[in-house]
Amino acid sequence: MSIEDPILTPLTLEEYQALGVDERLARGAAAERSRRRWRESAACRELSAPIYAGTAACAENDGRERLTLDHITPLVRGGTHLPTNIRILCGSCNSRKKHH
Ligand SMILES: [Zn+2]
Repeated sequence: MSIEDPILTPLTLEEYQALGVDERLARGAAAERSRRRWRESAACRELSAPIYAGTAACAENDGRERLTLDHITPLVRGGTHLPTNIRILCGSCNSRKKHH
């Protein structure tokens, strides 16, 4: 991980920790900042294009309702924005995941 690669990895946790922020809050803040940068990135636009084109389906059950990009390892647990950590999930699979 390097600071030159801020879009692909949530790097700012160390910055928050350097300020003495509680680790849980720091992780949440770093993940939120990372998520915002991700949504503005070309990679996000590219990976979500099939959703907007209507050609995408859920990676879990082939559903087509309320499709979104899902981070397999959540950002808050150190997941990255690399394509290997991104999949398309439908709304019901996504909410099931959140309740785990
Ligand atoms: Zn699904």
